[in-house]
Amino acid sequence: MSEMNHLKKIQHEIMCCTGCGYCKKACPTFDMGGTEADSGRGKIFLAYGLLSGEIEEDTSVIQTLQKCTLCGRCEQDCPSLVKISDIIHAARKDLHGVLPAHQKIMDSIAKYGNPFGMESESRKNEQRGVEAENTEIAYFAGCMENYMEKGLKRAALSIFEKLGVDVAVIDNECCGNPVEIIGRENKQLSKIEKKLDDMAIKKIIFSCPSCMQSFLPLNKKFEIMHISQFLAGMDLNLKDAGMKLIYHDSSVLGRKLGIYEEPRKLLEMAGGFIEFKQHEELAQCCGGDLAFSAAFPDTAGKMAERIVEEAREKNATIVTASPHCYHHLKKYGDVIDIVEVVDRFL
Ligand code: SF4
Ligand code: SF4
Repeated sequence: MSEMNHLKKIQHEIMCCTGCGYCKKACPTFDMGGTEADSGRGKIFLAYGLLSGEIEEDTSVIQTLQKCTLCGRCEQDCPSLVKISDIIHAARKDLHGVLPAHQKIMDSIAKYGNPFGMESESRKNEQRGVEAENTEIAYFAGCMENYMEKGLKRAALSIFEKLGVDVAVIDNECCGNPVEIIGRENKQLSKIEKKLDDMAIKKIIFSCPSCMQSFLPLNKKFEIMHISQFLAGMDLNLKDAGMKLIYHDSSVLGRKLGIYEEPRKLLEMAGGFIEFKQHEELAQCCGGDLAFSAAFPDTAGKMAERIVEEAREKNATIVTASPHCYHHLKKYGDVIDIVEVVDRFL
């Protein structure tokens, strides 16, 4: 039997679970799958089984523990305040096996420095804009903006240019967030840290909440902030967007990083917006997490569809503040990212 060191460390959380099942109420994977194993409670029982040795790792255990976006929505309904997503994440770290879709992501990051298996040249071709050398502020573009949604990086750089803010654009590899989410050690961060040290960077601005989350261990050394926080702190004179906008809280930006107010402040400056029925702490996850959507595309698609459906009923365009949500949701409906809103109406 393996050591289960990560689960041992979080044993106290597992023991706080009374088994009441309230965490099923708004869990998207339970909603789509309907079995106990699809719910937070089912996964906690599984984690307990692994810890106690009553359950052994096999493919179905790996599959079950990975079938969760770690969105934390379930935690809003848990009367015992159990850190459900932390337990599931700890269990993943104690697993030996990896799903084929996840192995592919990890191999890609190791070989190409990004999860998409793309040559790094396609990133470098986009390195233009305000590439200042004598600045302590860096803009960190994640793989999504460097490879798949280059328009979001262009929009961010255009905003800095319009505002006269000098930022250094780091020629970075993947921050390693997908590897972390899968439950494997993130070796990417130390490489990037070295580069930031060489550039004497003090502040890092992210448009991707997942990248920002990966940098949390370095937040004593660098000031880290989401681009919406940086922009909301400035006196921007945005034109009225003249569009009906509905703001979607990313699970990472919202529940994990606690950033709810700033994107809303920016949208108010651009003429206002409406809310989803469930918003802020109660927002529904769109399923756009890279590791989750790669392994469970059908469930991830259904999760996106229900968000798009509500926006459609309200005749509104979804505004995201996460390149992952943007990339995923736009396959199903009208989406614009907060950086595009600011760039367009500044
Ligand atoms: S709501 Fe909380 S206490 Fe109840 S089963 Fe879920 S995790 Fe356990
Ligand atoms: S973290 Fe999200 S997907 Fe995972 S069990 Fe909780 S609500 Fe469900």
